[in-house]
Amino acid sequence: MAVARPLLPKKTSISEDYNLTNHVLGLGINGKVVECVNKKTNEKCALKVLQDTPKARREVDLHYRSCACPQIVQIRDVFENMLSGKRCLLVVMECMSGGELFNRIQERADSAFNEREAAQIVRSIATAISYLHNINIAHRDLKPENLLYTSSGPDGALKLTDFGFAKEVGVNKSLQTPCYTPYYVAPEVLGQEKYDKSCDLWSLGVITYILLCGYPPFYSNHGAPISPGMKQRIRDGQYDFPTAEWATSRRTLKILLDDC
Ligand code: ADP
Repeated sequence: MAVARPLLPKKTSISEDYNLTNHVLGLGINGKVVECVNKKTNEKCALKVLQDTPKARREVDLHYRSCACPQIVQIRDVFENMLSGKRCLLVVMECMSGGELFNRIQERADSAFNEREAAQIVRSIATAISYLHNINIAHRDLKPENLLYTSSGPDGALKLTDFGFAKEVGVNKSLQTPCYTPYYVAPEVLGQEKYDKSCDLWSLGVITYILLCGYPPFYSNHGAPISPGMKQRIRDGQYDFPTAEWATSRRTLKILLDDC
């Protein structure tokens, strides 16, 4: 296994090495991610700016330590600069021009992914999670918005990003903070009990379900992000395979099996 590199943000100004642009690549809870260009190599990159807090340091450190895995968005540089009087961490990443898996799912709203396509996607995600879990990192925010393609078109590789909820874990159940995005949250994260990195596997199951039918297995019946009923269904593992979508999926599966 690759040896983790220590995170040492550069104290020089980012503008010495990169030209910043106004091109917004995406929006997150921390604001915009914009395009920037490496002055020496001309490589297009993505810049995420975080206020320099211990939480931000942890996010960047865990992401940086995971970069030996090809299924994880690569960090090219980290700067520690003052912006508008505040100390910030400027994270320069490889530019994932193919956008979010979330958008591909939306584009395919009328014809969910077939098993072969879904399997390729799930394999990429599982490889990233396996790498993280082997170095004792739980991601805790696996969702299609945090899975990005290197390029549009069929050859784009899928990679995991956003380590904002990630945490280093011990051998025993050591996580307790209820960090989550409702659709993807594992039942144990909703309760008071301690949990471990296996919460990421539940989220992978939810993503697999969505890929195959186009909607999530657990949702609020009132359009709320989360509701007591939805929490209960997650805790009970109570979800359906409505025939309208899942019958087609089973047909595709049969065709694939007949091919083998
Ligand atoms: P936050 O932690 O603020 O939610 P994210 O890291 O999730 O921010 O990024 C927000 C969005 O910005 C992503 O969903 C994606 O659309 C875009 N984005 C993030 N990183 C990259 C990247 N390396 N290349 C291209 N777009 C990116």
